[in-house]
Amino acid sequence: MSLYDLTLSEVAGKIKNKEVTIKEVLDDIYSRIEDVEPKVDAYITLTKDLAYKRAEELQERLNNGEDIGVLGGVPIAIKDNICTNGVKTTCASKMLENFTPIYDATVVKKLEEAGAIIVGKTNMDEFAMGSSTETSYFKKTKNPWNLNRVPGGSSGGSAAAVSSDMAFAALGSDTGGSIRQPASYCSVVGLKPTYGLISRFGLIAFASSLDQIGPFTKNVEDAAIMLNVISGHDKLDTTSADIEKIDYTKALVSDVKGKVIGIPTDFITEGISKDVKQAYDNAIDTLKAAGAKIEEIKLEYAKYSLATYYIIATAEASSNLGRYDGIRYGYRAKDFNDLDELYVKSRTEGFGDEVKRRIMLGTYVLSSGYYDAYYKRAQQVRTLIVDNFKKAFEKCDVIMIPTAPNTSFKFGAHNASPLEMYLEDIYTVPVNIAGLPGISVPGGFGKNGMPIGIQFIAKAFDEQNLLQVAYTFEKNTSYIDKKPAIEEGK
Ligand code: GLN
Repeated sequence: MSLYDLTLSEVAGKIKNKEVTIKEVLDDIYSRIEDVEPKVDAYITLTKDLAYKRAEELQERLNNGEDIGVLGGVPIAIKDNICTNGVKTTCASKMLENFTPIYDATVVKKLEEAGAIIVGKTNMDEFAMGSSTETSYFKKTKNPWNLNRVPGGSSGGSAAAVSSDMAFAALGSDTGGSIRQPASYCSVVGLKPTYGLISRFGLIAFASSLDQIGPFTKNVEDAAIMLNVISGHDKLDTTSADIEKIDYTKALVSDVKGKVIGIPTDFITEGISKDVKQAYDNAIDTLKAAGAKIEEIKLEYAKYSLATYYIIATAEASSNLGRYDGIRYGYRAKDFNDLDELYVKSRTEGFGDEVKRRIMLGTYVLSSGYYDAYYKRAQQVRTLIVDNFKKAFEKCDVIMIPTAPNTSFKFGAHNASPLEMYLEDIYTVPVNIAGLPGISVPGGFGKNGMPIGIQFIAKAFDEQNLLQVAYTFEKNTSYIDKKPAIEEGK
């Protein structure tokens, strides 16, 4: 058996017990990357030299009897919008093609303190804007389950890397679904924690009131382990919540007896494919059989989430991306006559189409004539959606919905209509709008062989209930046992 197909907790255990050396694990991961990466294209940058240096240090400490942390020696991948000291962080944009941060994001620091080894930075949609990883300036990541299809996005590289065993876990960011949707397309576990639970310091901002970092893992147990490591208050992020540290692995109990699972039948209607509906119905049966109580709930405003999201997210993006002016850092145009031209040319040449579309939309909804009609109303609807969830959680512990209405699509399928692509986010964006935790777990396969994800949503800071239900679902199904073929298909 290869080492690369172990789970994070298994490989960490083997390293700790000295059944394998850290170098052996790293050798195995990099040889896997050599085999598979030419087909999948999950990484923008590999950090091989740094990784081997760190492996040596960690092994020495381990041999000296030191505790090297829960992730001691475990190779992990990082989405390329999370800053890594001395390692390029590009956001998959020409604008940041040569940007090397001089500090680590707090999550990176935390991972390293827990002993993780960073193996590389993963591909993504440019500035995390997209649902397919097709807007990357550098390359298109392929879905390991069918190389002719997208891995989802925007954290498609992270999802594909974990799904094809090129990392034991990866970090992604989720503004409107960018962890959960690619997790569902690639049949891995993707967790978007409660807003404020994970520090955003060092995450390159897209939409600051929605962005949240979270892990991709091979199972729910590993998600809990990763959450233990990366969560916690951070003085460097003013939106970071100052709550007591929780041991999330305590929630790994396979039991849902007495738990109430909310099913928003009014929300799961349009646009959902037959296969996804079938998988969802099966998921309801699975949890029912495991002893959960299924309760119908109403989320009548959730259908306005997409419209709300694409106003708020673009407004915040237009402001956040104002800093790329060609002067302080990032791409600078070569020929210009005056300051205005320097700004315009640098931004015109440095940003891709989707980023420009978002900046224009955002600037429009914030402009003085339209602010009240769009931005202000979107904020008001946001409050209605938040209240909707609050009410729903009076009746249930955890809400269950599909992660995405369809399985992964072919490259270019939505080129003609960005709006069609936006519709893929229908089930993930409400969670960001309300700042809630959500997790996507493997929930079946469509007739085309492509994975389907089932999503659980809990109250803010109730990751324990979320993980317990997700863990129970995983234990009562066997979808995570199936591995992708990593070849072309229909
Ligand atoms: N697909 C959504 C968008 O394009 C979500 C992106 C994200 O979560 N980063 O905005």
